[in-house]
Parts: sequence; structure tokens; C-alpha cells
Amino acid sequence: MKKTTGTDRKITSNWRPATQAVRGGTWRSEHGETSEALFLTSGYTYDDAQTVADRFAGEVEGMTYSRLQNPTVAMLEERIALMEGAEACRAQASGMAAMTAALLCQLSAGDHVVGARAAFGSCRWLLDHLLPRFAIETTIVDSADNEAWEAAIRPNTKVFFFETPANPTLDVVDLAHVCGLAKSRGITSVVDNAFATSALQRPMDFGADVVAYSATKLMDGQGRVLAGAVCGSREWIEEVLLPFQRNTGPNCAPFNAWVVLKGLETLGLRAQRQSESAVGLGRFLESRVPRILHPGLESHPRHALAMKQMSATGPIFALDVESREKAFSLLDALELIDISNNIGDARSLMCHPASTTHAGMSDEDRADMGVTEGLLRINVGLEDIEDLKEDLDQALKKAGF
Ligand SMILES: *Cc1c(COP(=O)(O)O)cnc(C)c1O
Repeated sequence: MKKTTGTDRKITSNWRPATQAVRGGTWRSEHGETSEALFLTSGYTYDDAQTVADRFAGEVEGMTYSRLQNPTVAMLEERIALMEGAEACRAQASGMAAMTAALLCQLSAGDHVVGARAAFGSCRWLLDHLLPRFAIETTIVDSADNEAWEAAIRPNTKVFFFETPANPTLDVVDLAHVCGLAKSRGITSVVDNAFATSALQRPMDFGADVVAYSATKLMDGQGRVLAGAVCGSREWIEEVLLPFQRNTGPNCAPFNAWVVLKGLETLGLRAQRQSESAVGLGRFLESRVPRILHPGLESHPRHALAMKQMSATGPIFALDVESREKAFSLLDALELIDISNNIGDARSLMCHPASTTHAGMSDEDRADMGVTEGLLRINVGLEDIEDLKEDLDQALKKAGF
């Protein structure tokens, strides 16, 4: 395959984000195709036996098997790494494959992890249920409490794991403080950046060691495929993540990687527009419902911090309508916005976390995390904001607001 400038870091790292999003990682075949080629192949053939022996020995570059490398997946990995400002990235089958790999690849029995209280339900399940099965201890902290992170550190603390903004309560973590604290104590910080993506927030600019993604969300952006990614230093990716990934196989399928590559081309535009609409819709609803949670609104307790570490605050906000009954009647009255538990989509979607994304948690943990019975989460899409306002207005009236 012919390499173009899309794979030459000396050139691409000087490009600005919008250029990286469209051209970063592009690796053209001998046909000179404009769009990235989709290589649906599990294996590769070789002209002679020595070539394959050299590739397996790591002495010459080249593909050997798609669990180890695939050209389409490699293009996605290079593009995500560039946009993130990371040395390296490996794509994963889903966001949860990414989170599981990012944690398990570096943890052993006897290690300790500090995790944020507010998190996606499955991320909390990893901390609360999976890691303890392998004798890895976890401590859950209120992520907005800077002192709590420090107080939770033990001699065997290996990892800090959190998302910001968090799903679904939109808690914001002080990236510079928490990642800086981790660094000063030899702890690896793993940040789930799914809600913001590199288009709105780059945790590594604030000292994060590892940034992990559900690419299913804003990166694909059109609700089509599951995918994930883990970014880090070249050394960490090659020496810590890769031995785990190559032998356990949570790989991203080439087709899914190709879809996400196409999604990244418009990520910046979508993230900006959806963020603006989320703030606009939040303002419209603020006086109508008891509580709105969105870091882009002045009412958010960490609004100033969010504006410091994010260029825009993303498409997702939560509102509290007091009870499950009222939440369900609001959802049932929607005419345009869909009832759906996905996020990052170009369509506006709304769901009730307590009965869906966070239903697997105990009532106590849910309450502790702020996932109340009246909480609704909305993903604001690319539709005209006036149509979204009209739909929410009529649904709120039907629900008694
Ligand atoms: C959706 C989500 C995940 C899981 O991603 P999948 O692609 O669905 O596996 C992890 N973290 C956060 C913050 C998410 O929103």
C-alpha cells in the first residue's frame, strides 16, 4: 500500500484538528482511492516464507492477522491518536471492551483502584463487581471532591478511573488536579472521554495518562456501530495494552472502524452544533422543571471549571422531574424526540437512566450517585432547535409541567 502524508506524524501533527479529522491516518492503496478503503480480511498472504517469518519476528513491518493489525482499523487508530494528541491508540470492539482492556491490561491481584461515583452503569459494574472477583480492591469517591481523591490513595493504588462529564449526572472532574495528583503519586489516570471526545476536551492536555472511548457515541455520531478506543503513550500502548489486547481479542471490526472514520470527518461540526443546541434547550427548560444538569449552564456547580477544560459542553443534559411517573409520562408524550438509551446520535433521544442504563445497580448506589427516579437524560441531536423546543413544550404540558 502506498503511504500518503496522512500517516507521516512529522506532517500530520502540525495540522489543525479539522484537517486531522478529515485526513489524519489516511493510507491509500495502489488505486489511489479518495475515501479510506475498507479491508474486510481476517488474514494476509505472503510472497515467501521468509517474509512471514520476519513479520512474526517483528523484524519487518507488515500485517499478519487482523486480531493484530488491519489497514482500515490502523487508519482509525492513527486518526483518533492525532486528534487526541496521543502518541498511540488501539481501537476496540465497543466502549466497554475499551474500558475493560484499559483496566485489566495493567491491574493484578492486590492492586487498588480509585473510581468516580458517577459513571456509566457498566463502568461502575467493572469497579463494583468484576475487579473485586480478581482481588483488585476499589474505592469509590465523589469525583467533584478534590480532597477525596487524595484521601483514597493507598500504597497499592495503581489506577484512577473516571469520566467527565459523567453519565448521566454530568458531574465534572477537575482534570488538572486529579490527573496531576495521580502523576505525582505514580498512579495511572484512565479517563473515559466519551461524552466530550477530543473535539471538545483533550484530557491529555491536563495530564491524563490514558484516554478511553466509546466511539459508539459522538465519534460515529449517527447511531450505526459499536466501537471503542484506548489512547496512551507509545510505550504504554505497546508494552502494557498490546500484550493483553493481542491475546484476548477485544478488537474493532474493520467495517465498524470504517464507519467511525467517516464519522470523525464531521465530529467537530456536530459536537459544536449539538453543544449549542443542548445549552439552548437547557435554558429553555430551566424555568419549567425542578432541576437541569448541564455543565454549559451557569446553574451547574462546576460550570466555571467545565468552561476552562472544555471548548463546548456536549450534547447531553439531564433533567429531574421528581418522580418515575412524571418521567414516564413526559417520555410517552414525546412526538419528535425518540425514547432511546443511546447518546451522541444526530437524532435527539431521551431515556430514564434508573430503569435503563443504571437499572443494574442497587437502589442505594443509584441514590448515592444522584440517579433519582425522576431523572431523565437527553441527547440533543442535529434537528432544528425550535422543533425540539416545541416537542418538549407539548410533552411537558401533557406531563403536568
Ligand atoms: C456508552 C458508554 C460506555 C460504553 O460504550 P459502548 O460502546 O456502549 O460499549 C462507556 N462509557 C460511557 C461514558 C458511555 O457513555
